[in-house]
Amino acid sequence: MAIIPEQEPLIQSLNKDWYQPYVLGIDMLRLDVIHPVVSGNKWYKLKYNIQHAIDGGYSSILTSGGAYSNHLIAAAAAAKQYGIKSIGIIKGTYAQDTLTPTLQQCKDYGMELVFVNHEDYKKIDTDEYHAQLKRDYDNPFIIPVGGANEWGREGCETIAAYISDVYTHICVSVGTGTTLIGIRNALPQKQIVLGYAPMKGGLYLKEEIDKYLHTDKQNAYTLFDDWHCGGFGKWNDELLNFMNSFYAINKVPLDIVYTGKMMSGIQQQLQQGYFSKDSRILCIHTGGLQGNASVKEKLIY
Ligand SMILES: *Cc1c(COP(=O)(O)O)cnc(C)c1O
Repeated sequence: MAIIPEQEPLIQSLNKDWYQPYVLGIDMLRLDVIHPVVSGNKWYKLKYNIQHAIDGGYSSILTSGGAYSNHLIAAAAAAKQYGIKSIGIIKGTYAQDTLTPTLQQCKDYGMELVFVNHEDYKKIDTDEYHAQLKRDYDNPFIIPVGGANEWGREGCETIAAYISDVYTHICVSVGTGTTLIGIRNALPQKQIVLGYAPMKGGLYLKEEIDKYLHTDKQNAYTLFDDWHCGGFGKWNDELLNFMNSFYAINKVPLDIVYTGKMMSGIQQQLQQGYFSKDSRILCIHTGGLQGNASVKEKLIY
């Protein structure tokens, strides 16, 4: 079965006032527009997973995430769209008492929610836990946290088809690194890939990322973890103000967990002269806008 997006992604140029006189141009690859819920990179990470589950005759998919996970909601919506049952293993038993908007929506898409404590959740993607989950839930097709498996990486390689060789730099947010891996493996060496991790100490991801990069690509990217606002999922007024002014000038809505932090980092790098003046930058909008639900009233979009 072919899994296709509802909309093709589009490339949008940012307003010159945002990047002049620092570089020649900055465009955004808007993966956020491809589907109202299965937005951004999550769709690319899921498409071969879902296809594989259906072609393999599985009756359900099982995956896991936190109470605000973009991946979980995307998996729930995609499973519903393609007529396969979904089971979500949720980090933290507290989450069952008051469902977050994300979890409520997962439930509305028909996902069966299972809550596990933090201690057990740490083992979620071990072979032992997977074996137990296969026994407990009637042999589901298991997709690891964040869609970080070979099907996810392969799906992300197809994002490179939208990236022309006029761009000198490709910027992408990094959670598990799956998206960066797919893009880095698929793009020619001469295109510079920059990854922005929105958590404290995110440079530890480099080791994991290098495991899956072709040998000639292993050092052909740079990771930053400077723009985290205190940690994963944390935010402050400065970030919100930045996102609002970015929207006012560029008409691009950013998300509070990933792309808002990445673009604020890029703005700082522009001002600090990180990019040479002849750079043409493509920033990937990896989606995640559903995660703005908790700060909706503070945003102008
Ligand atoms: C999940 C997510 C990421 C991280 O993607 P990885 O492939 O796990 O690195 C980046 N941006 C957004 C908006 C996301 O939802």
